[in-house]
Amino acid sequence: MTVSSSNKANLFVVSAPSGAGKTSLLKQLMSDLSNVQTSISHTTRKRRDAEVDGVDYHFVSVEKFKELVEEEAFYEHAEVFGNYYGTSKASISEQLTKGIDVILEIDWQGARQIRKQISSSLSIFILPPSKQELEKRLTGRGQDDSEIIQGRMNSAIDEMSHYNEYDYLVINDNFALAVDEIKTIIVGERQKSPAEQQKLEKQSEKHAQLLCNLLE
Ligand code: 5GP
Repeated sequence: MTVSSSNKANLFVVSAPSGAGKTSLLKQLMSDLSNVQTSISHTTRKRRDAEVDGVDYHFVSVEKFKELVEEEAFYEHAEVFGNYYGTSKASISEQLTKGIDVILEIDWQGARQIRKQISSSLSIFILPPSKQELEKRLTGRGQDDSEIIQGRMNSAIDEMSHYNEYDYLVINDNFALAVDEIKTIIVGERQKSPAEQQKLEKQSEKHAQLLCNLLE
């Protein structure tokens, strides 16, 4: 599926609790859609083995990060799990000017700040299919110790409690279907087709039952 570059580019904010599968979903989306890119955040977090500086994140020192904050180089920045993360203004405006849709992978705090500054931005929240599955996914990663996993489980519930601030909800139960759903949202917004532009029903029975399970 391709996206025509003649239409206006949009800024999408995508949030999800750790373990909801956001990174894999967006990776698939990037390979399936042209003219859509994720923005690369700055972070003071330590680089993980599989990550590449300048591709996954711009890994910077706390000192450098604070300098950038002073220079007002970020649309938003936040402390998440004891590390700083920020979204650079320069990289986003450059991509949008080129007609490329930009996806920001940020948490609810960042999403709020972006909404305030860029009213035309659109937001998508990705939910895991159940609390049990989320727990399994967090444990199954094997890259963090149990204290971190427990902390992330608690943070996940906190993150998910903000689902109602988002324009779209996507449940990552079936990977292929979830990818298709996000594609429909992105392409629909770009093409401004009335049918696809409809916001998804947030309070459908399926969503309501799942949210009860996730947030209990
Ligand atoms: P991780 O360290 O696991 O890659 O990401 C931890 C959290 O930081 C995730 O919830 C992710 O969405 C969030 N995050 C990543 N980049 C940014 C950013 O630029 N701004 C904000 N506010 N959060 C971010």
